[in-house]
Amino acid sequence: MRDIRDLNFEELRTALAGENEPAYRAEQVFAWLYQKGASSYAEFTDLPRALRDRLAERFSLRPLEVVEVRSSIDGTSKTLFHLADGRLIETVFIPSGARRTICLSTQAGCKFACAFCASGLHGFHRQLTPAEILGQVLHQRNSLDVDLTNLVFMGMGEPLDNMDNVEHALRVLNDPRGFRFAARRITVSTCGLVPGIERFAKINLQINLSVSIHAADDETRTRLMPVNRRYPLSELISACEGYLGGGGRKITFEYVLLKGINDRPADAERLARLARRLRAKVNLIAFSPVAGLPFERPERASVDEFIRRLKNKGVGATLRSSKGSDIQAACGQLAGSAPAD
Ligand code: SF4
Repeated sequence: MRDIRDLNFEELRTALAGENEPAYRAEQVFAWLYQKGASSYAEFTDLPRALRDRLAERFSLRPLEVVEVRSSIDGTSKTLFHLADGRLIETVFIPSGARRTICLSTQAGCKFACAFCASGLHGFHRQLTPAEILGQVLHQRNSLDVDLTNLVFMGMGEPLDNMDNVEHALRVLNDPRGFRFAARRITVSTCGLVPGIERFAKINLQINLSVSIHAADDETRTRLMPVNRRYPLSELISACEGYLGGGGRKITFEYVLLKGINDRPADAERLARLARRLRAKVNLIAFSPVAGLPFERPERASVDEFIRRLKNKGVGATLRSSKGSDIQAACGQLAGSAPAD
């Protein structure tokens, strides 16, 4: 049975019109689902009982099932969810100063097999539905009882490879009848899927785009990110230029520093050239070790030198602390594994 959160607003309105319900019912249902975070039809107390029963016969409304929550000493927490078909996904809550960020998964597994990332280690299983993407936000907001300030689509999977469902979720998150989440506080990340960036550019929302660049020459990038073979840097940068269009939009580069692989002075110089071309800010993350992956964290001195070179070239660069590494919740560590009990 289809989950009611897999319906966009227009589909919901059509479904309710078919039940001979007045037009305002769709807004009431959206408010119960996304503003009040109801997890059962019984909570829709201002709807007639007969309508609630008919909705329950046609559409499921199941909260995500939590398997385990792990909490880091730095305040980060990682929730492992069990989906209806047995697949496991992870969502991370990252408090930092005044920011309370949720990092969302968009696929069970990942097709893209980036060499430094745990999510791609076991291959791709399936796309997450809109209900499963939105369900992560609903669960975190309800269980943590905090006002979320930022949403990042940087968990398991490649968001632009699940564009239909991600776009659906983004529209509900931003909709004043839905979550009412400001678009500029939402960031979607991509490993560099050029057709996805081109399509994302056509979504009329001011959502931030973050490009996981991780190397500024094709040879190193192909070694780290096989997707670069299909969409090399020249095509990726052109697509990013198209995304920037006439202005108003911004691109951020994500760059995981791997000792001896992409942290050399020449890497910083090449990265600075690409960043200047797109006026992109660079978020640097020192690699967090993942069991089974052959990479090391660089020394602090080489990280500082890398940043200095970017800044010397006029590029805004920030070293982000990759939080939650003690619970395998840091960038690149999400694998959707069953708990080790
Ligand atoms: S970095 Fe992103 S695209 Fe690459 S394997 Fe991990 S989840 Fe997939």
